[in-house]
Amino acid sequence: MKRRQILIAGSGLAAAALGGCSKQAEIGGAPQQYAVGKVIEWKMVTSWPKNFPGVGVGAERFATLVDAMSGGRLKVKIYAAGELVPALEVFDAVSRGTAELGHSAAYYWKGKVPAAQFFCALPFGPTAQEMNAWLYRGGGIALWEETYKPFGILPMACGATGVQTAGWFNKEITSVDDFKGLKMRTPGLGGEVLTRMGGTVVNLPAGEIFTALQTGAIDATEWIGPYNDLALGLHKAAKYYYTPGWQEPNVTFELDINLAVWATLPPDLQAIVRSAARAVNAEMLDDYNAHNMEAMEQLKSEGVQVRRLPDAVLAKLKEVAAEVVDAAAAADPTANEVWTQQKAYLQRLYDYAQYAEKDIYAIRG
Ligand code: CA
Repeated sequence: MKRRQILIAGSGLAAAALGGCSKQAEIGGAPQQYAVGKVIEWKMVTSWPKNFPGVGVGAERFATLVDAMSGGRLKVKIYAAGELVPALEVFDAVSRGTAELGHSAAYYWKGKVPAAQFFCALPFGPTAQEMNAWLYRGGGIALWEETYKPFGILPMACGATGVQTAGWFNKEITSVDDFKGLKMRTPGLGGEVLTRMGGTVVNLPAGEIFTALQTGAIDATEWIGPYNDLALGLHKAAKYYYTPGWQEPNVTFELDINLAVWATLPPDLQAIVRSAARAVNAEMLDDYNAHNMEAMEQLKSEGVQVRRLPDAVLAKLKEVAAEVVDAAAAADPTANEVWTQQKAYLQRLYDYAQYAEKDIYAIRG
C-alpha cells in the first residue's frame, strides 16, 4: 500500500491512470504492479510491413531503445500489419487489450475518433517542426491524451515524415477538372478534399497500394515520399510523380499504449517509454530528410517524371482544404475543441515563420 501511494505521489499521469481504473480497484484491488526484476513483455501491433523504411524502422528502433535503456527489463515484440491484427485495426486492438502497444497513424480512426486526425496531419497544415512545437509546447499532447482517454489509450508522438509528395498519377494534372472521377488512395482530410473535387477515395494500407495502382483498381495514389514510395515500387506502376504533398505537409505517427497496462508500469519504465518515443519522433524525421533526398535523386535518374502541381490547382485545393478542415471540426465537439486551440496556435507559428524559415528559404534558395 505504501509503495502504491509513493507511486501515485510520484507521477501525476500514473495517478490519473489509476484513477481511471477505479472499477477494477473495487473488484479486485489496485492494478498489480510488476514485480521488481521481472522481465515485462509487450506486444506492439503496427500498420506497416516488417522493417518498412522510415516508419517501420522507427517502430523497430523504439523496441531496441526501450530494451537497451531498461537493461532488458521491458521487451517489445513487434507485429507487422496483418500478423496479429489487420493494418487499420491497431487502435481497436490496443483499446481492447489484444496488444499492449500499437504504432500507427491517427487518421486511420477518423471514423471512430474524428478529433484524432488533428494530431496527425492536416491538408495545408503544419510541418513536422510546427506540429512538434504545438504537441510538446503548445498544449497538443494534453488535448491528445484527453481525446484518447475514453478509449483506454495513452497516445505519444512517435515519428514524423516531414513534407510528403502529392503522389503518383497515370494521367497529367493540368487543371482542377482532372480530379473529377479520379480514383485515388489518400486517407484523412486530404481524402475528403479529393472527394469535394469530384474524386473517389480508396483507403488502402501500404501492402495493397502497388497492386491496386498496377491493375488500375485506382488511378492514383499518394503514400509518403520518395524514400517509401521507391520501396513500394510505385514508379513502376505510374507515370507522373507530383509535388508538393499539400495533403500532408507532415504526418505524425503515434504510439498507442493501453492505459490499464500503462498504470501497472513502474515510473522508471514509464520514463523510458516516453524518452524512447520522443527519440524516435526526432530520429524518424532525420531519416526521412536524408533518405527522401537520396531516393528522389534515384527516381529522377531512372526517368521518373517529377511534376509540380499547377498554381491554380494548388490554390483550389487550399480553398477546399480550409472548408474541409473547418467542417470536420464543426461536426464533432472534441474535434472542435482541439481545432479551435490548435488553429490559433498554428497561426502564431505561421506568422512567426516570416522572420525565420520562410525568409531564409526564400533568400538562400
Ligand atoms: Ca501520405
